[in-house]
Amino acid sequence: EKAEIGLIGLGVMGSNLALNIAEKGNRIAVYNRTVDKTRAFYAGAGELQKNIVPTETLSEFVAAIRPPRPLIIMIKAGEPVDQEIEKLRPYLGKGDIIIDAGNANFHDTRRRFQELEGTGLTFIGMGVSGGEEGARHGPSIMVGGTEDSYARVEKVLTSISAKYEDDPCCAWLGPDGAGHFVKTIHNGIEYADMQMIAEIYGILRDGVGLNAAEIAQVFSEWNDGRLNSFLIEITAKVLTAADPETGKAMPDVIVDAAGQKGTGRWSAIEAQQLAVPATVIEAAVAARCLSSMRDERKNAEPMFNKEELEFGIAPGPWLNRDLELALFAAKIAAYAQGFDVMASASQEYDWKLPMPEIARIWRAGCIIRSQFLDEITKAFSDTPDVANLIVTPAFAAMVNECLPSLRRIVAAATSAGLPVPGLASALTYFDAYRQSRGTANLIQAQRDFFGAHGFDRLDGLDIHHGPWGSGAA
Ligand code: NDP
Repeated sequence: EKAEIGLIGLGVMGSNLALNIAEKGNRIAVYNRTVDKTRAFYAGAGELQKNIVPTETLSEFVAAIRPPRPLIIMIKAGEPVDQEIEKLRPYLGKGDIIIDAGNANFHDTRRRFQELEGTGLTFIGMGVSGGEEGARHGPSIMVGGTEDSYARVEKVLTSISAKYEDDPCCAWLGPDGAGHFVKTIHNGIEYADMQMIAEIYGILRDGVGLNAAEIAQVFSEWNDGRLNSFLIEITAKVLTAADPETGKAMPDVIVDAAGQKGTGRWSAIEAQQLAVPATVIEAAVAARCLSSMRDERKNAEPMFNKEELEFGIAPGPWLNRDLELALFAAKIAAYAQGFDVMASASQEYDWKLPMPEIARIWRAGCIIRSQFLDEITKAFSDTPDVANLIVTPAFAAMVNECLPSLRRIVAAATSAGLPVPGLASALTYFDAYRQSRGTANLIQAQRDFFGAHGFDRLDGLDIHHGPWGSGAA
């Protein structure tokens, strides 16, 4: 019996995804460059072996699948994907669908999609979120490609995706790079969420002097409230865990240098390309970079720590409440910015991204899953063409409620010398966004002075240059 679908790449993500597919009753053919891995995978598949066809060459792999064949590629992103497509092509036939499920840059996905256009083959770029656990038991799946090719794989994909209130967290989001773009922004928002949680942790650890267990307690309480989310939940868990080697709290033995694989950075780069302010995401990416410059930070510490600084808010329920609302307000800014980047990309690339649907498929399976996403789905459904999430009535009300807390916390943290780049960017974003008379009038005057770039006047008079005289260059 032929397989329904194929998968290339039995690494961490691919092997878990393949088991998930087999478990949901879909017959799947698998292939991996290193054959030993395929054998080990099959040997360890237990009773799921009945739905798995292990293959050792690409021709054997392709022949094992019923045409038109959906073929998932889940390997190292970048060059390897292009090489794999080249190797596959001689064996493929009309209507076959190549599905790249890795963390591709959406520009590559657009190129690959275009390269296959007119060849009889089609290409799907599919963002998969949720890490190893998600891949095995239900990821969030963001699909870009033709609607027809999605129709061919919809049944399998919705069978393996996470479910939220019985609805699959899997959707077709638009043509070519739409799925990988949305996955990229998902990761950018994830960076922002994690950075701001770390900043709050820093305030509690260094400003207030709590130990890991005490901080865990605070996060654990928040998980029952408006901040309820996977990331808050695991923050409480990692803070509670003890190091088996030393008995210390686990975070207290871990080096403070955060790794990154690039998708957060891509979010910031695309935001800049599209001229969308995504300051919280940018701050989160920059904070990871600075975290990695550990030797420089060590060198600088004795040079600058001359002031006696104190965190000015007394510990206790009031502070915890302020921190909770501050984090919530800042989270709103990060998501508003992420959705703003997606709205702009949607126009630029003519994708028609379905915003309420995106928030819905992030509701389960992925790393940024949270209760808060329900509010976003609702806000974008109620006001589809709104310029920004924060000016929807529901979010404007939330921002008004939480902004004073964010302001107090950022003020207290900066007065205490505690770095809060994410929270501070969020606060500044709100303050700049709601200011009808900003300060760029001065920049326009400067630009006209040195470069005769011209300006518009508030009174509408048709005069576009200043009386700078001979001093102007
Ligand atoms: P792993 O490192 O576990 O596995 C890598 C896989 O890629 C192996 O099957 C490897 O084959 C294959 N591979 C590497 N280079 C080549 C090549 N040149 N030609 C053919 N095959 C190659 O990676 P992951 O499973 O973690 O990641 C796979 C993809 O999923 C990546 O794009 C990643 O960004 C993405 N992703 C990962 C997540 C995670 O949490 N880990 C979450 C979401 C997406 P071989 O055994 O022969 O070396």
